[in-house]
Amino acid sequence: MMAEPIEVELLVDARAIVGEGPIWDPRDNRLIWVDIMGHKVHRYDPASGQDEAFDVGQPVGAAATRASGGLVLAVHDGFATLDLATGRVELLAPVEQDIPHNRMNDGRVDSAGRFWAGTMPYEWQERVGQGALYRLNADHTVERIFGGVTISNGIGWSPDDRLMYYVDSPTQRLEVFDYDAASGAISNRRTLVEIPSEVGLPDGLTVDAEGYIWLAVWGGWRIQRYSPDGRLDREVRLPVSQGSSCCFGGPDLMDLYITSATSGLAEAQLRQEPHAGALWRCRPGVKGKAPHSYKG
Ligand code: CA
Repeated sequence: MMAEPIEVELLVDARAIVGEGPIWDPRDNRLIWVDIMGHKVHRYDPASGQDEAFDVGQPVGAAATRASGGLVLAVHDGFATLDLATGRVELLAPVEQDIPHNRMNDGRVDSAGRFWAGTMPYEWQERVGQGALYRLNADHTVERIFGGVTISNGIGWSPDDRLMYYVDSPTQRLEVFDYDAASGAISNRRTLVEIPSEVGLPDGLTVDAEGYIWLAVWGGWRIQRYSPDGRLDREVRLPVSQGSSCCFGGPDLMDLYITSATSGLAEAQLRQEPHAGALWRCRPGVKGKAPHSYKG
């Protein structure tokens, strides 16, 4: 199964609390990522090696490019926009305003330009199943897709747009739905892969151009690549335990960017992984799919 180990490069030693949500922004060849509990949206320039951060004033679970400019965000309060020129944040559509113990978490944009993102309780161990998955449509309306979620996490679509992959982390499952790209309807939910808890917790994901799924395994020191039929194809070993998400980027979409977190690591553990919370990159020899922008 395993080929040569894939070399992983340290890019930004940001010590993020919860580094997350990397997405490639082809408009200016930058990598956008967030530090959820640091309340930051980061923008990394691979050409210069510079990383800048925007303080958005509240937890931010995910970001995506917006067709009309700037970014759309999934923040504690709901869906918001970020103007990258001014740093101004505006709430576009509130989500779960009546549930202050939840925040928005991971999210991605589909091929029709709809932004999907879910929620999770801050104290999720005590509030199992109290999150939900939402979709922000182009007209700024929000639809609740399903509830019963504990940590709404990775989401992605097959290259032919007929499948949607999804992770609710504490289920230990990478799940798959049939997907109707025109309407955005999902059906026939089933388990593709069960990740053993001793390996780690399934977290963020991205789907490559061959239709394979790259899954970050939180606590597992690794990213795993699964075939569309659920076979473990290869792994990227990380120098940090809490890899959280990944995406393809770079002008050729062949760089795999990986975020990580320091959250919950004791001092002794941080000494063992001094670059926890950093942004990383590798080139596994596979091409990613071009990212989509939110249409609203
Ligand atoms: Ca996550």
